[in-house]
Parts: sequence; structure tokens; C-alpha cells
Amino acid sequence: MNNDIEKILYSVDDIHEAASRLGKQLADDYRDKNPMMVCVLKGAVLFMADVIREMPVYSTIDFVDVSSYNGGTESSGQVELVTDLSSDVQGRDIVLVEDIIDTGRTLAYLIDLLKDRGANSISVCTLLDKPSGRVVEAKADYVGFEVPNEFLVGYGLDYQGQYRNLPYIGILKPSVYLDK
Ligand code: 5GP
Ligand code: MG
Ligand code: MG
Repeated sequence: MNNDIEKILYSVDDIHEAASRLGKQLADDYRDKNPMMVCVLKGAVLFMADVIREMPVYSTIDFVDVSSYNGGTESSGQVELVTDLSSDVQGRDIVLVEDIIDTGRTLAYLIDLLKDRGANSISVCTLLDKPSGRVVEAKADYVGFEVPNEFLVGYGLDYQGQYRNLPYIGILKPSVYLDK
């Protein structure tokens, strides 16, 4: 599996430092708000687990699964709700936790959904931001790293469901997807 990686962009230590920096900022900003931390499945699962451990404040967690990529390396442009939240967001202060923002479509879709359901506030915490990929307007309030326009895997990010368990983030060798 490690042989499929062309280059490591963010090491285990780099990621830990970012999660800890963002967790501390969130803890400061949400100290008395009992935020609902919403993990966007499946990619943000590792990041969410790391960020919330750096936030010693009252909070709840929930999960939402949306799909737009259909397992490939290009966005299909359509966002679908795959698994809904299990909690009521009415009046809550929500922090959407994402692995990466690319076109911005996932985020725009989720923000609309949460607004419609009466969330009191919505902010976005993403480990990675790929501003060059934007198709619709979407802005994150808490960003780990700005990344170039490459297809990344590891630490939650997949290619065809694989590589999520790599502890670091790297660039996938194009031969891995061009050969298929
Ligand atoms: P958006 O809706 O902003 O285009 O993309 C959001 C989702 O696309 C991310 O949550 C992620 O699942 C997927 N995505 C975007 N860029 C990458 C990438 O470089 N690598 C992987 N593995 N997934 C990506
Ligand atoms: Mg995601
Ligand atoms: Mg994916």
C-alpha cells in the first residue's frame, strides 16, 4: 500500500500539530456554546477524532454521509445525502468537520441543509483546503493546510475506498488510477 504513494505531503506529526492548533481555536471560540461537531463521513473520521480530543469543552458529536465522487478522482457534480444526522440541529451551533474542500459543492449542500433545519450558527473546520478546485463559493473558518491541485489519499482520504487508514497524507501515484 505504501508503495502506491508518490510523495508524503503531511506527516503524522504535521497532522497532529494541525489538529491540535484547530482544536484549541475551536475550544476558545465555542467554550460556552455546547457545539455540535458534525463529521462528514467517511473522510473526516480520523480528523474529527483527533480534533475533538483537543477541545476540552462541552460538545456533542454527530455524523452525516454525503456522496459526490462515486469513488473516482473527479467530482460528479451531484451531491446526495447518504446517511442523515441523528440529532436535531434546531438552535444549535454547528461545526462541520471536513477532510478536504475541493469544488465546495459538498459544503454548500450541507450548509443549506443545516440552515433549512434551523441551526443557530454553522462554521466549517477542514483539515485540507484546495482553493484552486472551487466551483461554488465555500469558505472554511478553520483550515489545517492549503493544498495544491493533486489527488491526495491517507488519513481518511480514499481512492476507491482504499488508503483511508494511512496515518499520513500523500499524493497517489498516477499509475495507480491510470492503469485501471
Ligand atoms: P467537494 O464537494 O468540495 O468537491 O469535495 C468534497 C469531497 O471530495 C471531500 O470530502 C473528499 O471526499 C473528496 N475529495 C476532494 N478532493 C480530494 C482529494 O484530493 N482526494 C480524495 N481522496 N478525496 C477528495
Ligand atoms: Mg469530505
Ligand atoms: Mg472519497
